Amino acid sequence: MRILVLLGPPGAGKGTQAKRLEKAYGIVQLSTGDMLRAAVASGSALGQQAKDVMDAGRLMPDDIMTKIISDRVEQPDCANGFILDGFPRTRAQAEALDALLDGKGLALDKVIELKVVEQALVERISGRFACANCGAGYHDTFQPPKTPGVCDVCGSTEFKRRADDTAETVRARLAAYREQTAPILPYYRDKGILVEVDGMADIDEVTRQIEQLLNG
Ligand code: AMP
Repeated sequence: MRILVLLGPPGAGKGTQAKRLEKAYGIVQLSTGDMLRAAVASGSALGQQAKDVMDAGRLMPDDIMTKIISDRVEQPDCANGFILDGFPRTRAQAEALDALLDGKGLALDKVIELKVVEQALVERISGRFACANCGAGYHDTFQPPKTPGVCDVCGSTEFKRRADDTAETVRARLAAYREQTAPILPYYRDKGILVEVDGMADIDEVTRQIEQLLNG
């Protein structure tokens, strides 16, 4: 069973790479951001809270996020393993994850840090969008659909942009990463499971680097 964490600031390419690893290794992507966006769309109480927090570029409380992940990993599709995309985001979440896995006799294989230059991220994030039907990710400049306005994967002509991908919210999200998430890198480095990948390389090259680290 393979259990991976993708770490890196918003716009580093975690979601893009997680989707590729999902296919390559037959393990499921667990994106806490996607789970919260689904809660917002459903109009639940959790969704209302998540909307306010996400729009402000802040983080949701640790206990709520830990509960979401501990419930999610019980699902049958996690039996082969999973890639955590967006969790953990704080030291408390990292420790809760270890306790959760430990209780199941499991452990993290690798934590993959996507290293990027922060100045590049605002442009990356503000240009991104996704197919409203299948979720395939695109970028206005770096990865437009082959036929403008048509999804390469499923042919849909409907696209969506994230509500929190605005320049102002991105700055708050980057600050949250610097202050609350980056401090967990030494935690994993000390355990000897942190590996670093150049997230500024092109998408295929990043995938190649990750696969090399996982297969090596
Ligand atoms: P993402 O799609 O990973 O960029 O997450 C979007 C937003 O969801 C973040 O800016 C946070 O507000 C919230 N969020 C996602 N995952 C977490 C987490 N593990 N802890 C706290 N907040 C989270």
